Amino acid sequence: MPELPEVETVRRGLEPVMTGAVIARAQVNRPDLRWPLPENMADRLTGQRVLGLRRRSKYILCDLDGGETLLIHLGMSGRMLISGAQVGAFAHPHPAPEKHDHVVLDMEGGARITFNDARRFGAMDLAATAGVDAHKWLAGLGPEPLGNAFSEDHLVERFRGRKMPVKSALLDQKIVAGLGNIYVCETLFRAGIHPARQAGAISERRVRSMVPIIRQVLEEAIAAGGSSLKDFRQADGELGYFQHNFDVYGREGMTCKTTGCEAEIRRIVQSGRSSFYCPTCQR
Ligand SMILES: [Zn+2]
Repeated sequence: MPELPEVETVRRGLEPVMTGAVIARAQVNRPDLRWPLPENMADRLTGQRVLGLRRRSKYILCDLDGGETLLIHLGMSGRMLISGAQVGAFAHPHPAPEKHDHVVLDMEGGARITFNDARRFGAMDLAATAGVDAHKWLAGLGPEPLGNAFSEDHLVERFRGRKMPVKSALLDQKIVAGLGNIYVCETLFRAGIHPARQAGAISERRVRSMVPIIRQVLEEAIAAGGSSLKDFRQADGELGYFQHNFDVYGREGMTCKTTGCEAEIRRIVQSGRSSFYCPTCQR
């Protein structure tokens, strides 16, 4: 499932192809993805110039010059393919249409963006740009982890008195937006905090220490995604998925990466999701 760094990588990959360009033709091949697609979606997109692409949490927001914004969520398996234009060092011819190509945007100038989503957990909507922050997908979200509103004071404030495990608190989108399972596991490892610790019982000093770690973990992953845009792995024109080197995520039974620590990484299930951690390094 794409997390914030993958979504940011997709946004950065789409930006040079879409920003400033006009959508010459929009093809919407089904009435719904996870939820119904907006009414007259193809008509509302056709002829619109893309003013810019933003990201909020795991949503890509595509602002159009007619005053609407296209909201895009990749869901579990959504992929964006770019063809007919330069992507990094490569230019790809248009591929043969595939069964799960649900939305296809042909830009003036020849670039094509294809949204393919086999499992259809993705979602798109159109809303007035002026009120998009109040859209139901965005309204309840906490601050962006890479933005100025996400501060050490904010996290201390939001953790105070909370009895939930720190893992759940960091996944709570009202506390911080866009953090998912993988990067929460990685953050807690670097912070040396056990995922089952009660959020409100962690010392203020350690809560503060998590803020720069969250930023660092995400920025490193975004940087890895950025280099993958130029990499041979993107040779098929597909955006959004790239190789990572995780410290704990997916490493159950393997030796901890901390120098001198020989413990094996453990996995526990919290709220139905796997948490990976080192029993020695994380307390
Ligand atoms: Zn360890």
